[in-house]
Amino acid sequence: AKADPILKVDKITRQFGGITAVDVEHLEVQRGVITALIGPNGAGKTTFFNLITGFDKPTSAGHGAHWEFDGRALNRTSASSVARSGMVRTFQLTKSLSRMTVMENMMLGAQGQAGESLAKALFRPFWAGEEKQIEEKALELLARFKLHEKRADFAGSLSGGQRKLLEMARALMSDPKMIMLDEPMAGVNPALTQSLLGHIQSLRDEGMTVLFVEHDMHVVRHISDWVVVMAEGRVVAEGAADTVMSNPAVIDAYLGAH
Ligand code: ATP
Repeated sequence: AKADPILKVDKITRQFGGITAVDVEHLEVQRGVITALIGPNGAGKTTFFNLITGFDKPTSAGHGAHWEFDGRALNRTSASSVARSGMVRTFQLTKSLSRMTVMENMMLGAQGQAGESLAKALFRPFWAGEEKQIEEKALELLARFKLHEKRADFAGSLSGGQRKLLEMARALMSDPKMIMLDEPMAGVNPALTQSLLGHIQSLRDEGMTVLFVEHDMHVVRHISDWVVVMAEGRVVAEGAADTVMSNPAVIDAYLGAH
């Protein structure tokens, strides 16, 4: 396939004290495909997510450091403008979001980032005037994810799998170009696994770019078009799922973790 990167990252580094959590030389995510980011515990996957979404800042923006999303430089961008540019991540339900209804969670998603500034979002309902359309969109998405009947329930009462669906539906409220999922299958019971995988694939089939972090290799093999492997903060391998998972460097990276 012809390369058409939606996300391009060059030289991004993050250290915590003496630990180099992320030291990525170059990484691209292609538009319209599902890319899995895998690697042993502590490889730097979450830190990388935080960096590119503006939730964390790189340690040094040295020579050649540059990253861009959809043709737009992100080096000095806040989390909310990253979200507005179309790169949106899912958030696990926090305590305060659990105490809100499913529908209220969706309305916050329309704000762009439910995780970032809950209080601000609540006091500044940007959708004033457009409430009707936003509500309709929320209801459509809830129907799509079969959460329609739960709309008045507290989000905290949902099962593990339903929470993951809500996290995804909420992220979609801002019409992202790329959705980033952190372990979308964690805590999901087997009955909902297939349905979640199906939802992720349909998003891709509709043209959305998906980047996800996942430990379950069956899931990775099953739905990824491309797999990027991180170890000790670096990209150590990438390629099609089957190729990557039979790569000695990848096997080493995982064995190294045990
Ligand atoms: P996992 O698969 O377990 O979630 P990961 O690949 O997401 O791991 P990170 O959570 O990004 O890895 O962690 C990378 C390294 O950075 C680890 O050594 C971790 O201990 C360290 N680290 C991450 N966040 C912080 C922090 N806020 N303060 C100090 N060290 C941190």
